[in-house]
Amino acid sequence: MNNVKLNKMILLGIPLLFLATAVYFFLSGSNVQIEYQGQQIRDQYRETIEYRQGLVLQEISDQFLSQLKVTKDDQDITADIELLTNMNEPVNLGTYTFDYGIDDEMYVRYVVEIVDTTAPVIDGTKSYVAQIGKPFTKENLQLTVYDAYDMDLLSTISLSDIDTSKAGIKKGIVKIHDQSGNESTMEIEIEVLDKTVNNEQGEQLFLQKDTEDLTLLLNPSHVLPDGWEPDDLQMINHDANTAHYLRKEAADAWEQLYAAAKQDGIAVNVVSSFRTQAYQEMLFNSYLEIDPDAASYSARPRSSEHELGLALDLSYDDQLHDDLQTSVLGQWMEKHAYQYGWIVRYPEGKEDITQYIYEPWHYRYVGVPLAHYLHEQILSLEEYYSNR
Ligand SMILES: [Zn+2]
Repeated sequence: MNNVKLNKMILLGIPLLFLATAVYFFLSGSNVQIEYQGQQIRDQYRETIEYRQGLVLQEISDQFLSQLKVTKDDQDITADIELLTNMNEPVNLGTYTFDYGIDDEMYVRYVVEIVDTTAPVIDGTKSYVAQIGKPFTKENLQLTVYDAYDMDLLSTISLSDIDTSKAGIKKGIVKIHDQSGNESTMEIEIEVLDKTVNNEQGEQLFLQKDTEDLTLLLNPSHVLPDGWEPDDLQMINHDANTAHYLRKEAADAWEQLYAAAKQDGIAVNVVSSFRTQAYQEMLFNSYLEIDPDAASYSARPRSSEHELGLALDLSYDDQLHDDLQTSVLGQWMEKHAYQYGWIVRYPEGKEDITQYIYEPWHYRYVGVPLAHYLHEQILSLEEYYSNR
């Protein structure tokens, strides 16, 4: 027998026994056992709870208590455990501490962090219509926003840039976020429309709203707003004794042209000038009654340049002449009209483009720069606009 070995075992055994005793005392030293949801816990328990409306602290506490089991000296004392601090108030985001025990003796602390991790909900219109060239911004949105916690989120709304410079379907992204940083997005669709309206025949027409533009295109497919009339009509001079009107700028340009024609000894009568929409309608319908092809020389209401107050029908007498171009007046006008801002609006050889027969008598004021350009390039107004 080796005594030395035995001694070593005894020496080693004493600390081991001591350690085992310490472990035993640690586990059973506290005679209070706390279980929450069937799991043993220490004297404190932390938890995170999602905020919801109407939640009150008492409810959170009751919920905790209902899952709590406390034994002391192997005796169940759960029924005696109560909330030591009185808390009966609505819940906000943040941390709340609940202490539980019996009388002044606290056994367990429950720490709850109330959080909002739920993204807001966006509800409302997903499809919109916008006019070409007009900005589409978040102010145009028709949306409602719901959030579990935050009340007013509409101020956080943002919308991606929408390009309304061209017609078509555009996508947009609406974003919204709550105070806790939760974000929601929604895709919307914006149909950017040309300035079109439908006529009685069901055809799509371009509505020409920019009536201040003296170069405005007006033709069977480009029409004036219903009921539009110029507000700057001015009476003009000519050889005959009939009253005729043009918009101010065209009238001023006409007076210069007329004065120059007079100086060259040219006789010039105005047969037609500004017409109201009602008059144009009457005129067109009267042509249409006797001729189904009236649209090739007479404009439907809202599409006549006479309604625009920028057009004249000219003659050397009181009739319109197909061969005006061969007359002295026609020759003079061909040479000089563009210098004063006037063009033959429906030229010979461009009938397919203008959709009108050649009208040597019908002059349109477009301003001096454009009249010069169209004269040099031999372009109709339709070609000028389709080339741009
Ligand atoms: Zn005319």
